[in-house]
Amino acid sequence: MKIGIYPGSFDPVTKGHLDIIERSAKMMDMLIVAVLNNNVKSPLFSVEERVNMLNEVTKGLENVKVDSFSGLTVDYARKNKATVIVRGLRAVTDFEYELQMSQTNRIMYSDVDTIFLTTSLEYAYLSSSIVKEVALYGGDVSKFVPACVVREIHKKVNA
Ligand code: ADP
Repeated sequence: MKIGIYPGSFDPVTKGHLDIIERSAKMMDMLIVAVLNNNVKSPLFSVEERVNMLNEVTKGLENVKVDSFSGLTVDYARKNKATVIVRGLRAVTDFEYELQMSQTNRIMYSDVDTIFLTTSLEYAYLSSSIVKEVALYGGDVSKFVPACVVREIHKKVNA
């Protein structure tokens, strides 16, 4: 069974993430979308809220599971018998960091390979940070995130 993980912050999940999830899930038997509980960044949504939104937007995808983890991605991959790490590439600016991470991960765990999916053109500009910025200043984010996420963002911004 080919198991892949798609790790990330997903704060919150965007249509760009969802596109990568749908495309990569077709390539494997099971895809685990794994929310990284990263203490360094200060998130808008808690890990639990991010997991809930991901569960909601992926509920139609049978071989996709949502989870969260702390620590090293390779340790999480090993524990879940995943041999593939999925990442999305938007622009050259993503490349250097992603290359370094994938090489480091392979040195730490040689059974795992990272595959990169290039973004669909309509989402090439899109990031969770941009979505949060637009929402904080009252902009319409419905083109960027699924409808249930729009509602959750509004709740946060109005709170
Ligand atoms: P991280 O903090 O790990 O970068 P993100 O939630 O920002 O977490 O992104 C998770 C993954 O999704 C990364 O590989 C990132 O490059 C990818 N990604 C984010 N936005 C898009 C998008 N619009 N199109 C394609 N890939 C994306």
